[in-house]
Amino acid sequence: MALHGGAGAVAGRDYTVTERHLRELTSQCQDQLRSGAVALDVVEYAVRAMEASGLYVAGRGSAPNTAGYVELDASIMNGATREAGAVAAIRDVVNPISVARGVMERTPHVMLTGVGALAFATECGYSVVTDPATYYVLPVGVRAEETADQQHGTVGAVAMDEAGRLAAATSTGGTFGKLEGRVGDSPLIGAGTWADEDVAISCTGTGEHIIRAGGAISVALRVRAGLTLAAAIEELLAEVKRLGGDGGVIAVSRGGEIAMAYNSEGMKRAAASSKQALVATTF
Ligand code: ASP
Repeated sequence: MALHGGAGAVAGRDYTVTERHLRELTSQCQDQLRSGAVALDVVEYAVRAMEASGLYVAGRGSAPNTAGYVELDASIMNGATREAGAVAAIRDVVNPISVARGVMERTPHVMLTGVGALAFATECGYSVVTDPATYYVLPVGVRAEETADQQHGTVGAVAMDEAGRLAAATSTGGTFGKLEGRVGDSPLIGAGTWADEDVAISCTGTGEHIIRAGGAISVALRVRAGLTLAAAIEELLAEVKRLGGDGGVIAVSRGGEIAMAYNSEGMKRAAASSKQALVATTF
């Protein structure tokens, strides 16, 4: 399994607290997988913890849009069944990733947005933020330069369980200074998130460029065409760069390969498997 906490890390800054969080979370997830947990549950668990932590630009740590409020995007995909769920531009739910899973499991749809998504979350009893002014960590009008994340603080998780089932999940507050209603790659199945029988992928970076470069599914298709996971990710990141953006990708394959790559300054990330000792790092 692998986690990312966004590809917006800035060289020279101290990410000790975040790396410790990623390390502990990865260790917990690994214990769960060792005890037979299902990959879908593990990626949801990891993303929920990152959303609640306030350490990333997702959930509690999200940056308000230019209208002065937080809009959240999240998506989750079960590779074994190809079921997927997403929410976009939803306000004030504590765990957007769980609402995305709710869309997958409780509706015939893949994505709900805005007021409809919030109405669904409320009806289903998902936790909502009662006092946004005190809940969110970043103040209205905050600029990326004033934070540790420099644009990309999205969170993501990919995992394969003991039965070989793959799953991926991604959650974000989006980019700093985004317009009201703006949606990036993170909640789009195939762009920010993808899982099938062979690979599970979560992206971070400038969402507009990731979408235009073909996104997560382009990695899956390259793998299916015979590329290694690492080479497939390099091709997507090169295309993102060619279009003027930057970012990072984490992925796991059915063969147990883990890939974590980025062409931004850094990407907070962690990984572990039955073959590979736990690593948690940023640069
Ligand atoms: N990809 C996200 C978005 O465009 C941003 C990020 O990765 O932090 O919304």
